[in-house]
Amino acid sequence: MALRNIVTQGDPILRKHCREVDKVDDRIRMILDDMVETMRDAKGVGLAAPQIGMMRRMFVAEPEEGTVYCFVNPEILEAEGTQTGDEGCLSVPGYQGTVERPARIRIKGLDRDGNMQEYEFKEREAVVMCHEFDHLEGILYIDKSTNLYEVEQEEA
Ligand SMILES: [Zn+2]
Repeated sequence: MALRNIVTQGDPILRKHCREVDKVDDRIRMILDDMVETMRDAKGVGLAAPQIGMMRRMFVAEPEEGTVYCFVNPEILEAEGTQTGDEGCLSVPGYQGTVERPARIRIKGLDRDGNMQEYEFKEREAVVMCHEFDHLEGILYIDKSTNLYEVEQEEA
């Protein structure tokens, strides 16, 4: 596994609509593993492929330590209710902002082995999944936040 460079706001790749993954093969698995390692190294809870410069529809997330989700070609099937909370993004270092998200979602997509999986998420997990899904559409949370503010960055 290897750490990947995280691209930051201003890079046009973060604004592109990502393309579907044709097949979950060893190359895709390797990239997903690199994404997990990169996310953990950066102390993030999620990372989408465009954030490492790949315009493909896939992301990884670890909303609770030790529980990693990989979604390839994800689809949000249902979104219900609203919740409001603060978010940050590894591609927008040094900032946080308040964003309104669905309270509950149902999402499906391929897992690391190429098998179809379907989950229901609520609370913080739903926020993380929606945030990462948005990356695949070229959307950043700062587009939706009403009150972006600066935060102190943790020293690596
Ligand atoms: Zn992000």
